[in-house]
Amino acid sequence: MIGPSARWERFAARRRARAAGVAEHEPDERYNCQKCEYTPWPCSEARTRLLKSFGGDRMALMTYLGVHLTRALQALPDTHPALIVGQIVHWVPRRRH
Ligand SMILES: [Zn+2]
Repeated sequence: MIGPSARWERFAARRRARAAGVAEHEPDERYNCQKCEYTPWPCSEARTRLLKSFGGDRMALMTYLGVHLTRALQALPDTHPALIVGQIVHWVPRRRH
């Protein structure tokens, strides 16, 4: 369950980001992209930005996505967890050997 304070924090963060003009490709409460409506987050633009902002630090990116995965699983209780894992995590390119 997501408590009222977490909900408030999320609302406040979104409002701050929107005021700063950077809330572009963030997930909404149903884990669709806020900008690309009805496109599951991360959309292709969000994926590009995430890969760029985390550089080669795959572990940090996976940790970040792990947090989103936890939230998405809570946000989408009627969606099969495997589909959510695919959406949130499995788009990350595999490590090159
Ligand atoms: Zn988007």
